[in-house]
Amino acid sequence: MPRGSSRVKLIQNYVDGNFVSGKSRFADVNPATGVVIAEVAEADKEQVDQAVQSARKALRGDWGRKSVSERAAHLHRVADAIEKRFDCFVAAEVADTGKPIALASRLDVPRAAANFRVFANLLQASGLESFQTETPDGKGALNYAVRKPLGVVGIITPWNLPLLLLTWKVAPALACGNSVVVKPSEETPATATLLAEVMQEAGIPDGAYNVVHGFGPNSAGEFLTQHPNVNAVTFTGESATGAAIMRTVAASVKPVSFELGGKNAAIVFEDCDFEEAVRGISEAVFLNTGQVCLCAERVYVQQNIFDRFVEALKREAESLRLGAPMESTTQLGPLISSQHRDKVLSYYRLAREEGAITVSGGGVPEFGTEFDHGFYVQPTIYTGLAETARCVKEEIFGPVCHVAPFASEEEAVAMANDTKYGLAASIWTSNLKRGHRVAQQMNVGITWVNCWFLRDLRTPFGGVGLSGIGREGGMHSLNFYSELNNICIRL
Ligand code: NAD
Repeated sequence: MPRGSSRVKLIQNYVDGNFVSGKSRFADVNPATGVVIAEVAEADKEQVDQAVQSARKALRGDWGRKSVSERAAHLHRVADAIEKRFDCFVAAEVADTGKPIALASRLDVPRAAANFRVFANLLQASGLESFQTETPDGKGALNYAVRKPLGVVGIITPWNLPLLLLTWKVAPALACGNSVVVKPSEETPATATLLAEVMQEAGIPDGAYNVVHGFGPNSAGEFLTQHPNVNAVTFTGESATGAAIMRTVAASVKPVSFELGGKNAAIVFEDCDFEEAVRGISEAVFLNTGQVCLCAERVYVQQNIFDRFVEALKREAESLRLGAPMESTTQLGPLISSQHRDKVLSYYRLAREEGAITVSGGGVPEFGTEFDHGFYVQPTIYTGLAETARCVKEEIFGPVCHVAPFASEEEAVAMANDTKYGLAASIWTSNLKRGHRVAQQMNVGITWVNCWFLRDLRTPFGGVGLSGIGREGGMHSLNFYSELNNICIRL
């Protein structure tokens, strides 16, 4: 791996309001070039313990004493500070992930600020149920609930939308009065530490937000989930990691919220708006180089339009501009790491072994520049696989889909639902009755009709089966990040 300057910057942990180094370090690599851009301070067990202790102290101290409106004001200040440092966040996210600057500017960073604003507003607007309850003696009782923080929340996040997914959990957790210890992905550590600077600027009290860097097993991730003073764990990542975390937290019966993997289907009916569906599916397959948990890897197209659709999707795929993440016109960046590229390329090989017809891509692009050292793969479309093929069943998490024909609505629903995952689906039809009917049969957490990746942040988000446990979003987040204390007063 080519190395960058020998004086690369150090990305530190953030514990009790201080930026601290670790006893060991690991490299942060720019996936577009393979160059080491920073060193990351790895938190050892003792530092994770210090972070948890500081979070606990914050609950008893300044942060724990804040009123709802004070907490909401702090969250708005965090959002303001993110917006003030917009370019800085975009640059850090692009360097860590290799995603195109246009995408980070349109999606990742604005959503981070929006996450803080949405939960600040929601917290202030939300009440809880209260009932005048009848009693046999006629005097009655007043029964109501109050919201209390869970305590210290451990937050573990992946690399695909690092800041967006981190703040999606940090914002509601802080809104509810918890303190947090976050463990960002080892692949994308920069924006969590940058957010710590913003927390300081916004006056978030020391200990309310802590960052520990490191890996999963036998490193910061596991030290955090097994810590006895962590009261709840919220995790986004692979289903197998969710299972491992579940085993770790089982002994202490901590509440968990898991947003896990997917093998999402898109169903394209012959009555769809053809151009809109082609553009929509292309985005659903290739956005962020296919590294969004909601991306469609299985596309089912009604027989009559199958050939025309595959041809049009091929044209879309081949028109995508791959390359320099900092170019404003770039549409596809690299995969996150050489290991992940090996994994995706192993699926490209497997697809051919399983009998796939390669419609487009299937290999590695050549640039003749520094990007040849990056972890790029071609956007890829297959047809011809059996529904039982591993490439149709397993999450690949790259810019790739398999397109298969279907004859009837029933067949399409059966094929789409034939998976252990259940995160998302999209349906493309101009018949809205059909849209509703099919959407209600999807065994997933979210179904889109004639769109993809569009969601009001106040609505529930999560998956069924291997795709997760619980729902976050709007009140669902506030409910996960709080204990509801039911109080009944005899009048
Ligand atoms: P991953 O599971 O490998 O890692 C996620 C995080 O977990 C990292 O911070 C990692 O260090 C940590 N970790 C790993 N093992 C651990 C352990 N034993 N204990 C504690 N922490 C541990 O996932 P990834 O490769 O970073 O992300 C890609 C996956 O995330 C895909 O499967 C994708 O579908 C999924 N994802 C899901 C959603 C969703 O909302 N459902 C969103 C984004 C990504």
